[in-house]
Amino acid sequence: MALNVSHVVGGYSQIPVLKDISFDVKDGELVGLIGLNGAGKSTTINHIIGILKPFSGTIMINGKTIENDNRDYKKQIAYIPEIPVLYPELTLKEHLEMTMMAYHLNHTQAWKEAKRLLRIFRLDNKLNWFPANFSKGMKQKVMIVCAFITNAKLFIIDEPFLGLDPLAVSDLIDLIKQQKQKGSSILMSTHVLDTAERFCDRFVLIHGGKIRTEGTLEQLRKKFPHAGSSLNDI
Ligand code: ATP
Repeated sequence: MALNVSHVVGGYSQIPVLKDISFDVKDGELVGLIGLNGAGKSTTINHIIGILKPFSGTIMINGKTIENDNRDYKKQIAYIPEIPVLYPELTLKEHLEMTMMAYHLNHTQAWKEAKRLLRIFRLDNKLNWFPANFSKGMKQKVMIVCAFITNAKLFIIDEPFLGLDPLAVSDLIDLIKQQKQKGSSILMSTHVLDTAERFCDRFVLIHGGKIRTEGTLEQLRKKFPHAGSSLNDI
Protein backbone atom coordinates (compact mmCIF):
# COMPACT_ATOMS: atom_id res chain seq x y z
CA MET A 1 0.00 0.00 0.00
CA ALA A 2 1.53 3.34 -1.07
CA LEU A 3 -0.53 5.46 1.32
CA ASN A 4 -2.80 4.52 4.20
CA VAL A 5 -4.64 7.26 6.10
CA SER A 6 -6.37 5.72 9.11
CA HIS A 7 -8.85 7.51 11.39
CA VAL A 8 -7.03 10.83 11.15
CA VAL A 9 -8.43 13.69 13.18
CA GLY A 10 -6.46 16.86 12.54
CA GLY A 11 -6.32 20.52 11.71
CA TYR A 12 -4.60 23.75 12.65
CA SER A 13 -3.55 24.70 16.22
CA GLN A 14 -6.10 22.38 17.77
CA ILE A 15 -8.89 23.67 15.45
CA PRO A 16 -10.27 20.36 14.11
CA VAL A 17 -10.83 20.28 10.35
CA LEU A 18 -10.46 16.57 9.58
CA LYS A 19 -12.98 14.42 11.42
CA ASP A 20 -11.89 10.77 11.34
CA ILE A 21 -10.53 10.51 7.78
CA SER A 22 -9.61 7.06 6.38
CA PHE A 23 -8.62 6.13 2.83
CA ASP A 24 -5.88 4.33 0.86
CA VAL A 25 -3.85 4.80 -2.30
CA LYS A 26 -2.75 1.38 -3.56
CA ASP A 27 0.59 0.74 -5.31
CA GLY A 28 0.47 2.18 -8.82
CA GLU A 29 -2.92 3.81 -8.31
CA LEU A 30 -3.91 7.35 -9.28
CA VAL A 31 -6.51 8.66 -6.84
CA GLY A 32 -8.35 11.96 -7.17
CA LEU A 33 -9.08 13.74 -3.88
CA ILE A 34 -12.14 15.80 -4.70
CA GLY A 35 -14.46 18.15 -2.84
CA LEU A 36 -15.74 21.70 -2.68
CA ASN A 37 -13.67 24.70 -1.54
CA GLY A 38 -12.91 24.33 2.18
CA ALA A 39 -13.77 20.60 2.23
CA GLY A 40 -10.36 19.69 3.71
CA LYS A 41 -8.33 18.51 0.69
CA SER A 42 -5.23 20.66 1.33
CA THR A 43 -5.47 20.01 5.08
CA THR A 44 -5.44 16.26 4.37
CA ILE A 45 -2.39 16.70 2.12
CA ASN A 46 -0.62 18.86 4.74
CA HIS A 47 -0.95 15.94 7.18
CA ILE A 48 0.35 13.41 4.64
CA ILE A 49 3.47 15.43 3.82
CA GLY A 50 4.11 16.14 7.49
CA ILE A 51 3.45 19.91 7.64
CA LEU A 52 0.67 19.16 10.15
CA LYS A 53 0.61 16.39 12.76
CA PRO A 54 -2.63 14.44 13.29
CA PHE A 55 -4.33 15.00 16.66
CA SER A 56 -5.07 11.27 16.47
CA GLY A 57 -4.94 8.48 13.89
CA THR A 58 -2.06 7.26 11.74
CA ILE A 59 -0.61 7.84 8.27
CA MET A 60 1.52 5.17 6.63
CA ILE A 61 3.69 5.74 3.54
CA ASN A 62 4.85 2.59 1.75
CA GLY A 63 3.99 0.52 4.82
CA LYS A 64 5.76 2.70 7.41
CA THR A 65 4.15 5.11 9.85
CA ILE A 66 5.40 8.66 9.42
CA GLU A 67 7.16 9.95 12.49
CA ASN A 68 8.50 13.38 13.34
CA ASP A 69 12.00 12.10 14.06
CA ASN A 70 12.16 10.05 10.84
CA ARG A 71 12.47 12.40 7.86
CA ASP A 72 13.44 9.56 5.47
CA TYR A 73 9.87 9.08 4.32
CA LYS A 74 9.92 12.56 2.77
CA LYS A 75 12.37 11.31 0.11
CA GLN A 76 9.72 8.81 -0.99
CA ILE A 77 7.24 11.63 -1.68
CA ALA A 78 7.27 14.16 -4.52
CA TYR A 79 5.02 17.03 -3.51
CA ILE A 80 3.58 19.71 -5.77
CA PRO A 81 1.86 22.35 -3.61
CA GLU A 82 -1.16 24.38 -4.65
CA ILE A 83 0.84 27.60 -4.24
CA PRO A 84 4.40 27.37 -5.63
CA VAL A 85 7.07 27.73 -2.94
CA LEU A 86 10.49 28.74 -4.31
CA TYR A 87 13.59 30.13 -2.62
CA PRO A 88 13.99 33.79 -3.75
CA GLU A 89 17.80 33.65 -3.59
CA LEU A 90 18.15 30.48 -5.72
CA THR A 91 18.08 30.27 -9.53
CA LEU A 92 16.06 27.65 -11.41
CA LYS A 93 19.31 25.67 -11.91
CA GLU A 94 20.01 25.80 -8.15
CA HIS A 95 16.45 24.65 -7.34
CA LEU A 96 17.01 21.61 -9.55
CA GLU A 97 20.42 20.89 -8.00
CA MET A 98 18.95 21.23 -4.50
CA THR A 99 16.21 18.73 -5.38
CA MET A 100 18.80 16.30 -6.80
CA MET A 101 20.81 16.52 -3.56
CA ALA A 102 17.78 16.26 -1.26
CA TYR A 103 16.53 13.12 -3.05
CA HIS A 104 20.05 11.62 -3.53
CA LEU A 105 19.52 11.45 -7.30
CA ASN A 106 22.14 10.42 -9.85
CA HIS A 107 22.97 13.90 -11.20
CA THR A 108 23.75 12.74 -14.78
CA GLN A 109 20.43 10.92 -15.12
CA ALA A 110 18.49 13.62 -13.26
CA TRP A 111 19.89 16.39 -15.50
CA LYS A 112 18.93 14.39 -18.60
CA GLU A 113 15.35 14.16 -17.33
CA ALA A 114 15.39 17.79 -16.13
CA LYS A 115 16.43 19.02 -19.59
CA ARG A 116 13.60 17.02 -21.21
CA LEU A 117 11.04 18.47 -18.78
CA LEU A 118 12.44 22.02 -19.05
CA ARG A 119 12.00 21.83 -22.83
CA ILE A 120 8.40 20.61 -22.47
CA PHE A 121 7.56 23.57 -20.20
CA ARG A 122 9.68 26.05 -22.19
CA LEU A 123 11.98 26.79 -19.26
CA ASP A 124 15.17 25.45 -20.86
CA ASN A 125 16.60 28.93 -21.55
CA LYS A 126 15.78 30.22 -18.06
CA LEU A 127 18.17 28.17 -15.89
CA ASN A 128 19.79 31.31 -14.44
CA TRP A 129 16.51 33.07 -13.66
CA PHE A 130 15.47 33.81 -10.07
CA PRO A 131 11.86 33.19 -8.87
CA ALA A 132 11.14 36.95 -8.90
CA ASN A 133 11.44 36.82 -12.72
CA PHE A 134 8.86 34.05 -13.11
CA SER A 135 5.09 34.44 -13.46
CA LYS A 136 2.85 32.35 -11.15
CA GLY A 137 2.29 29.77 -13.88
CA MET A 138 6.02 29.56 -14.59
CA LYS A 139 6.72 29.05 -10.86
CA GLN A 140 4.16 26.23 -10.90
CA LYS A 141 6.01 24.68 -13.85
CA VAL A 142 9.31 24.89 -11.90
CA MET A 143 7.66 22.99 -9.02
CA ILE A 144 6.37 20.38 -11.51
CA VAL A 145 9.83 19.86 -13.06
CA CYS A 146 11.47 19.59 -9.61
CA ALA A 147 8.86 17.02 -8.53
CA PHE A 148 9.05 14.85 -11.64
CA ILE A 149 12.87 14.57 -11.72
CA THR A 150 12.67 12.80 -8.33
CA ASN A 151 10.89 9.77 -9.86
CA ALA A 152 9.47 9.27 -6.32
CA LYS A 153 7.33 6.27 -5.41
CA LEU A 154 4.48 8.49 -4.21
CA PHE A 155 3.35 11.77 -5.75
CA ILE A 156 1.15 14.15 -3.76
CA ILE A 157 -0.22 16.85 -6.03
CA ASP A 158 -2.43 19.67 -4.75
CA GLU A 159 -4.70 21.43 -7.29
CA PRO A 160 -2.19 21.19 -10.15
CA PHE A 161 -4.26 22.64 -12.97
CA LEU A 162 -5.15 26.04 -11.56
CA GLY A 163 -3.06 28.81 -13.09
CA LEU A 164 -1.61 26.64 -15.88
CA ASP A 165 -2.24 27.40 -19.56
CA PRO A 166 -4.13 24.67 -21.53
CA LEU A 167 -0.95 23.40 -23.20
CA ALA A 168 0.76 23.00 -19.81
CA VAL A 169 -2.34 21.22 -18.43
CA SER A 170 -2.15 18.74 -21.30
CA ASP A 171 1.64 18.27 -20.81
CA LEU A 172 1.13 17.74 -17.06
CA ILE A 173 -1.57 15.12 -17.64
CA ASP A 174 0.84 13.26 -19.95
CA LEU A 175 3.57 13.40 -17.28
CA ILE A 176 1.21 12.12 -14.57
CA LYS A 177 0.15 9.21 -16.82
CA GLN A 178 3.81 8.40 -17.66
CA GLN A 179 4.74 8.50 -13.96
CA LYS A 180 1.94 6.04 -13.18
CA GLN A 181 3.23 3.74 -15.93
CA LYS A 182 6.66 3.86 -14.24
CA GLY A 183 4.94 2.43 -11.13
CA SER A 184 4.47 5.51 -8.95
CA SER A 185 1.31 6.01 -6.91
CA ILE A 186 -0.39 9.39 -7.09
CA LEU A 187 -2.83 11.31 -4.90
CA MET A 188 -4.07 14.42 -6.69
CA SER A 189 -6.45 16.93 -5.17
CA THR A 190 -8.57 18.83 -7.64
CA HIS A 191 -11.92 20.33 -8.35
CA VAL A 192 -11.27 20.48 -12.08
CA LEU A 193 -13.26 17.26 -12.36
CA ASP A 194 -13.93 17.41 -16.08
CA THR A 195 -10.19 16.91 -16.50
CA ALA A 196 -9.51 14.54 -13.57
CA GLU A 197 -12.31 12.14 -14.43
CA ARG A 198 -10.58 11.33 -17.71
CA PHE A 199 -7.53 9.70 -16.06
CA CYS A 200 -7.98 9.02 -12.31
CA ASP A 201 -8.46 5.35 -11.33
CA ARG A 202 -10.60 6.21 -8.33
CA PHE A 203 -11.94 9.20 -6.42
CA VAL A 204 -12.19 10.02 -2.73
CA LEU A 205 -14.83 12.67 -2.06
CA ILE A 206 -14.25 14.78 1.04
CA HIS A 207 -16.95 17.03 2.46
CA GLY A 208 -16.86 19.01 5.72
CA GLY A 209 -13.66 17.25 6.82
CA LYS A 210 -15.18 13.77 6.41
CA ILE A 211 -14.93 11.18 3.62
CA ARG A 212 -18.37 11.28 2.06
CA THR A 213 -17.81 8.49 -0.45
CA GLU A 214 -15.15 6.88 -2.64
CA GLY A 215 -15.04 4.76 -5.78
CA THR A 216 -14.46 4.67 -9.50
CA LEU A 217 -16.15 7.12 -11.82
CA GLU A 218 -18.75 4.44 -12.66
CA GLN A 219 -19.39 3.66 -8.97
CA LEU A 220 -19.82 7.34 -8.12
CA ARG A 221 -22.18 7.85 -11.07
CA LYS A 222 -24.30 4.96 -9.79
CA LYS A 223 -24.33 6.42 -6.26
CA PHE A 224 -25.13 9.88 -7.60
CA PRO A 225 -27.28 9.31 -10.71
CA HIS A 226 -28.32 12.97 -10.75
CA ALA A 227 -24.66 13.92 -11.37
CA GLY A 228 -25.05 13.20 -15.10
CA SER A 229 -21.93 13.05 -17.21
CA SER A 230 -19.76 15.04 -14.82
CA LEU A 231 -18.90 14.56 -11.15
CA ASN A 232 -19.12 18.32 -10.81
CA ASP A 233 -22.81 17.93 -10.03
CA ILE A 234 -22.38 15.75 -6.89
P1 ATP B 1 -9.86 24.56 -1.69
O1 ATP B 1 -10.51 23.73 -2.75
O2 ATP B 1 -10.47 25.91 -1.57
O3 ATP B 1 -8.36 24.60 -1.79
P2 ATP B 1 -9.69 22.57 0.47
O4 ATP B 1 -10.64 21.44 0.29
O5 ATP B 1 -8.27 22.33 0.10
O6 ATP B 1 -10.26 23.86 -0.27
P3 ATP B 1 -8.67 23.31 3.08
O7 ATP B 1 -7.72 24.35 2.59
O8 ATP B 1 -8.14 22.02 3.55
O9 ATP B 1 -9.82 23.02 1.99
O10 ATP B 1 -9.54 23.98 4.23
C1 ATP B 1 -10.38 23.20 5.10
C2 ATP B 1 -10.79 24.05 6.28
O11 ATP B 1 -9.61 24.39 7.01
C3 ATP B 1 -11.46 25.37 5.90
O12 ATP B 1 -12.54 25.60 6.79
C4 ATP B 1 -10.40 26.41 6.12
O13 ATP B 1 -10.95 27.62 6.56
C5 ATP B 1 -9.54 25.78 7.22
N1 ATP B 1 -8.14 26.21 7.13
C6 ATP B 1 -7.35 26.10 6.04
N2 ATP B 1 -6.12 26.58 6.31
C7 ATP B 1 -6.13 27.00 7.59
C8 ATP B 1 -5.16 27.61 8.48
N3 ATP B 1 -3.90 27.83 8.06
N4 ATP B 1 -5.54 27.89 9.75
C9 ATP B 1 -6.81 27.62 10.17
N5 ATP B 1 -7.78 27.06 9.39
C10 ATP B 1 -7.44 26.77 8.12
